[in-house]
Formats: sequence, C-alpha cells, structure tokens
Amino acid sequence: MSSPSFCRTVLLASILSLVGLTAVAAAQEAHRPHWAYEGKEGPKEWGNLDASYAACSIGHTQSPIDIKDARKADLPTLKFDYHAVPLNIIDNGHTIQVNYAPGSTLKVGERIYTLKQFHFHHPSEEHVDGKTLRLVAHLVHADADGHLAVVAVLFELGSANPLIDTLWTNIPSEKEKPQDIPSVSIQVQDLLPDERDYFTYAGSLTTPPCSEGVSWFVLKSYATVSPQQVAAFAKIYPMNARPIQPTNGREILQSK
Ligand SMILES: [Zn+2]
Repeated sequence: MSSPSFCRTVLLASILSLVGLTAVAAAQEAHRPHWAYEGKEGPKEWGNLDASYAACSIGHTQSPIDIKDARKADLPTLKFDYHAVPLNIIDNGHTIQVNYAPGSTLKVGERIYTLKQFHFHHPSEEHVDGKTLRLVAHLVHADADGHLAVVAVLFELGSANPLIDTLWTNIPSEKEKPQDIPSVSIQVQDLLPDERDYFTYAGSLTTPPCSEGVSWFVLKSYATVSPQQVAAFAKIYPMNARPIQPTNGREILQSK
C-alpha cells in the first residue's frame, strides 16, 4: 500500500514529466526545418533537411504513387460513421486543413480508425493510370495504437461542391492560426462520392517526415469540384503535390 504523500510525489513527478515531454515535443516541433514544394527545400531535398525527415529519401514504401495494374481482391467495405462538427480550419502554410472534432470513425474489417483532419492537394498527388486529377482531399485517420489510414477522394471538374464552398469562404486570412468557427457546422461525408469502391496499398505520409506504415484507401469514384473552386485554391496553393514515388514492387489491390 502506498502512503498519500508517496502518491502525491508520484503524481507530481508524472505531471512534471508530462509537462517536460510536452515542452520537448513543442521545441522539436518548433525546430523542424521548413520545407516546400519547389526550390532548395523542395521534395528532392526533404530527406536532407532534417534527420527526422530521412524516410523521405531512404524509405521504400513512399506515397503518392501512380495507381495502375491493381489486383481485384475480396476487401472489406469501408464503413464511414462520420458526424457533423463545428468548423476548425487552418491554413498551415502547406495546405488548407480542417481539424475534425473526435467521434467520427472509419471501420475497415476489424480495425476502427478515428478521423483526425482532412486537407487538400492541387493537383491530385496520386495518379490513376498515369493521370492526375484537379484536386484531392486526404482524410487522415488514426486507430487507438496510432496506425494511420488515409482516405483519398479525387475530384474531377464538374458541379461545385457545397462543402468546399463553405470551407473556402472560411479560410483564415493569417497562416498557421487555426480558427474555431462554432457557428459553421460541417459534415465531411459531404465530400464523398456515393460509390465506395477503392484501391488500397501500403504507403507513407506525403509530407515530411514521410513516415511509413500508412494504409491508403483511394476511392475509385470521383467527386466533383467547379473550375472556380479549383482556381480559388490554386490562388493560395498553385502546386502542393509531392511527385510520384516508385512502387518498389508493392501490390495495389482494388475492391471488386
Ligand atoms: Zn495529403
């Protein structure tokens, strides 16, 4: 049995270590070098900018890839259980990102992932049969053990997407300052096409630190975006897509 003072000491020690760890993590985050989509800090150099970015150059299962020759397989259905949340949006200097309040999940087989955030790339990072699309949304999820799963929704030109209208209207004027906009409720489901067939492969984050072990689910059907919506994004981010990475023999599967 432990005495109350022992408990207090342990508690204090854990609080201090938590604070310490958080401070260290924050300091590391602050010192992570800047990276970009072109020039001296562009994709070819990412792996050399910081030791923690090494996977960007030495990794063998990097994303994005060109999706082709996918083998048909009996794959589990993607079960989305997404809820409407108040908007929290940030222009993080690399993309427009929406941080999603907890409670929305994606179930794949027995694995349950929680949606953390979604963001956009223009043009699409992933290619399909060598073709790039105008825009892609990446819906980033994590399971309880920290495994990441990203759902990619590709957009072709067509009618305007109402959720994108809402998002673009609320892009913060200042970079790197997340904005809580409680008066605006959003439902990420509104980005998804009706058909949920998908391609899947093992890849990585497409931005530094390019961490591997990410399960990718690229929806086969496209959503639509209007030329005006693409142009509005391109005004802020004319090109925020990492080049295609070698597949290195990875198998790409597709749901039947
Ligand atoms: Zn992305």
